[in-house]
Amino acid sequence: MQVVTVLGATGTIGQQTLDVIAQHPSRFRVYALTAQQNVPILFLQCMQFKPRYAVMLNENAAEQLYLQLKESGSNTEVLCGETALIKVAADHEVNIVMAAIVGAAGLASSIAAAHAGKRVLLANKETLVMAGHFFMQAVNEGGAELLPIDSEHNAVFQVMPATKLRDFNSQGIKRILLTASGGPFRNHSLSDLQHVTLQQALQHPNWKMGAKITIDSATMMNKGLEVIEAHWLFNASYEQIEVVVHPESVIHSMVEYIDGSVLAQMGNPDMRTPIAYGLGYPERLTNNVTSLDLFKVGQLNFEKPDSIRFPCLRLAFDALKMAGTAPSIMNAANEVAVASFLQNQISFMQIPQLIETTLEKCKIGMAEDLDAIIQADKDARLIAQDWLFTKGFSN
Ligand code: NAD
Ligand code: MG
Repeated sequence: MQVVTVLGATGTIGQQTLDVIAQHPSRFRVYALTAQQNVPILFLQCMQFKPRYAVMLNENAAEQLYLQLKESGSNTEVLCGETALIKVAADHEVNIVMAAIVGAAGLASSIAAAHAGKRVLLANKETLVMAGHFFMQAVNEGGAELLPIDSEHNAVFQVMPATKLRDFNSQGIKRILLTASGGPFRNHSLSDLQHVTLQQALQHPNWKMGAKITIDSATMMNKGLEVIEAHWLFNASYEQIEVVVHPESVIHSMVEYIDGSVLAQMGNPDMRTPIAYGLGYPERLTNNVTSLDLFKVGQLNFEKPDSIRFPCLRLAFDALKMAGTAPSIMNAANEVAVASFLQNQISFMQIPQLIETTLEKCKIGMAEDLDAIIQADKDARLIAQDWLFTKGFSN
């Protein structure tokens, strides 16, 4: 019996993880479920999966959940705050941690799970973007087993030789071909992009995801974050990672070997495939995903990405080249920009503007330790908020 903590259980990835777990009751037991503040969903999940702990980041939400669970006769203990998140990520009874909190908020608990030597199913790509070096160090020192859940990285993992850490340079690999759907504005001209609305940006053509990553997909910052994620996961330089726009999202990524072979992992765009892979590895688990119907797909198309129309992609490559605290600054600025766009404040094309301004204004340092990274994240948020303030918005 594998004992699982799901961090970010009420989110899109969290719910799909529980959907897979529910199909294998003799294999997995839920130890803890966590959320920021969504009481109705976490309550229902607690009633169904009967975890030992439920953690709410928000104190009022924790209080409400506690009362509702008590009234329903549940034995689940309710905890609150970031210390509790870290506890349930690292407790010795836990074997598997699904790290599916969105944004920088997931950093501390992802690192705690790695330090504690868990099987870490990493969905929270921001952890690697901000602190890739320190996270990978925690994985190595803690003896954790890292399984990437992001579909592209899961695909690359699946088509690399099965060594413990998939290391790019020792495996005869030439490059990683990271596929991107191109998002809802793939064919928009630069001038059309000035006028796109929040509602349009929230309509992803292929994937159903949380709001932040959906906007990241529309700006293509998501692919930028994923390039940095691939760099750390597979020890690949940015020259060895090529982004390929593939609108059907059937090929989830590819690896080219030095002998000319290109291996791809394919399937319907459904996150339950990489989630089931991570939960069951090295075995395969059933998961209700529909079979890929290639006759229905008909054609697979490929295009070069356009970093003029999608400047976020260039900004992410630049941040990776600058290294140090630059990726953390870029990530923080992006989080502030996306939150502001989601509140209908700034326009779509102001997202890259705000990120670029923050990268110019914020002092890029060495990232000598985790504290330096967290400080850079805070500084960048202040600079980004200040920019919003000068434009007449506040968060
Ligand atoms: P989501 O917004 O649907 O869910 C986020 C979860 O995190 C929720 O449970 C929420 O309660 C929790 N959360 C939010 N802020 C928090 C905070 N400050 N402290 C503690 N918990 C907090 O997001 P999602 O789409 O499930 O994405 C989760 C992560 O997985 C992201 O990093 C995303 O980039 C990554 N990812 C998602 C997908 C996808 O298909 N949704 C695919 C690949 C990678
Ligand atoms: Mg992805």
